[in-house]
Amino acid sequence: MTVRTRIAPSPTGDPHVGLAYVALVNYCFARKANGAFILRIEDTDQTRSTHASEQAILEALHWLGLQWDEGPDVGGPHGPYRQTERSALYQKYAQQLLDQGDAFKCFCSPERLEAVRNAQRAAKQPTHYDGHCLDLSAQEVAAKEKAGEPYVIRMNVPSAGVCIVKDLRRDPIEIEWPTVDMQVLLKSDGMPTYHLANVVDDHLMEITHVIRGEEWLSSAPKHLLLYRYFGWPAPQLLHLPLLRNPDHSKLSKRKNPTGILFYKAMGYLPEALLNFLGLLAVPTPEGEEMMDLPTMVGRFDIAHISLGGPVFDIPKLDWLNGRYLRERLDLNGFEERVQRWGFDSDRLRRIATLAQPRIARLSDLGPLLSFFFAGRLSLTPELIRDGKLDEETLRKVLAIARWNLDDIGDWNITTIETALRSVAAILGRKFRDIVRPLYVAVTGSAESVPLYDSIELLGRDLTRERLRHALQLIGTPSAAEEKAWRALSAPATPAGVG
Ligand code: GLU
Repeated sequence: MTVRTRIAPSPTGDPHVGLAYVALVNYCFARKANGAFILRIEDTDQTRSTHASEQAILEALHWLGLQWDEGPDVGGPHGPYRQTERSALYQKYAQQLLDQGDAFKCFCSPERLEAVRNAQRAAKQPTHYDGHCLDLSAQEVAAKEKAGEPYVIRMNVPSAGVCIVKDLRRDPIEIEWPTVDMQVLLKSDGMPTYHLANVVDDHLMEITHVIRGEEWLSSAPKHLLLYRYFGWPAPQLLHLPLLRNPDHSKLSKRKNPTGILFYKAMGYLPEALLNFLGLLAVPTPEGEEMMDLPTMVGRFDIAHISLGGPVFDIPKLDWLNGRYLRERLDLNGFEERVQRWGFDSDRLRRIATLAQPRIARLSDLGPLLSFFFAGRLSLTPELIRDGKLDEETLRKVLAIARWNLDDIGDWNITTIETALRSVAAILGRKFRDIVRPLYVAVTGSAESVPLYDSIELLGRDLTRERLRHALQLIGTPSAAEEKAWRALSAPATPAGVG
C-alpha cells in the first residue's frame, strides 16, 4: 500500500500557522514512507471561499517549501483538486445514498430549524435535527418536489448503538449514535457540505491516512458512517492537538498574529518556522534542535506525537530564527534574503515614487519610510489619542477598519480605500475625521506617505497586526463591544434552506 496523505484547507481566510503545522506532519509522514502528499482545496462553502484566500494558501505553502505531489496547480491523476470543480460527483454519491435509503430529503424551512434549535437550547439539550422529514412518504416527497419546495439531503443515523472512533494516537473513543446529528450532505443549491465532499474525495483520491486538527474529531463518526454506507474502507485517522498560546488558551487571531504570511512579512525564514513547528512534532536529541526538512522527515514517527497542546512560543521562534540568520547564511545568502524580504526592485520603485514628492533632503527618507521596513511600531497611547475623536470612536475606528480590511478579497488601493471609507460611513463621520488614527497605527506618524498605497505595500498581515497593536494600547474591545460594533456593519442574514 502506498501511503497517501493530504491537506484540505478551505480558502476562507488567511492561511493559519495551524495549517503549516498539519501540513508539516502530513508531509513528513508521507515522505518518510515514500508516499505521496496531496493538496486539495475545499471551497464548497461559496459564501466564504475566495480566490484571494486560495492564492494566499498556495503562496504560504510554497514559501514554506512543503512541495506537494498532486494539487490544483500541479495536477495529478485524481484531479480536479478543487472541490467546486467536482460537484457532479458529490451529487451522484448523494443520490446513491438516497437510493440505498441511507439519506433522505429534508424540506424543513430555516425558520422551523431555528425554532427546533431554540426549543432544544431552552431545554438545555444539545441542538440537533429532530428527524421531522424522516417519515415523509414517497408520495409526500414527490408532491413537495413538484410544488418546487427547496430541500437538502441529510444522512440517516442509527437510532441505537455506538460508533467507535479509532485514532492512531488515542484509545478508541465510543460515541452513541443517537447523539450524532443527521448531517446535511447536500445543500439546497446542490453543493455538498464538507462532510460528504471530504469523504468522497478522500476515497477517490486514495488517501490512506487522514491527519488533521483535533477540531475535526467530532466529525469522525459521521465520516465513518458514510464510509460504511458506501462500502469503502475508511482511512486511518490521526487528530493533531491544536496549537496553544503559552497560557494554553487556543491560538487565535484576536490575541496574536496567526497567519503564516504574517511571519513571512515579519522576516522569519521559512526554514526556521518549519523547524520551530517541527520541534512540536518530532523528537530531537539533546542539543540538536536545529533541523532541516530532510532531518525532520528522517526523525518523524507518529508514535512520538504528543497530544498535549503544543505551545506556539514566539520567543523560542525568535531565538531559532536568529540562529538561522546568523549561523546558516553566508553574507551572500543573507543579502539575498534581505532583498527578497523587503528590498526587491519593484517594491523599492513604488516606495520611491511615494517618497520623492515629499522630501527636502535624502536624509528625510529614513524617518519617512522606516515603517515599511519594520514589524510592530513603537507607538504610545498618547500618540494614538492625540486627535479630535473621543476614546470610544477612536477604538471603533481601529477595530472596524481592521475587520473591513480583513474582508477584502483582492488587496489593492481601490478595495482598501473602499474598506476604510466605509468605516467613516458606518460611524456617520467624515473620512477626514477618522483618518488620523489610521495613519498613526499604520505608519507610526500622523503625516506620512499616502495611506492606501502604504497599506497596500505593507500587506494585509502587517497592517492587521499594527491596527491590533494600536487598539491594544488604548483598549481592546470586550466581547460585548465587539458584538455591538460588528452589528453596526453586519449585512442582513441570508435566507435559504441548509
Ligand atoms: N476543509 C477542512 C479544513 O479547512 C479540512 C479538514 C480535514 O482535513 O478533513 O480544515
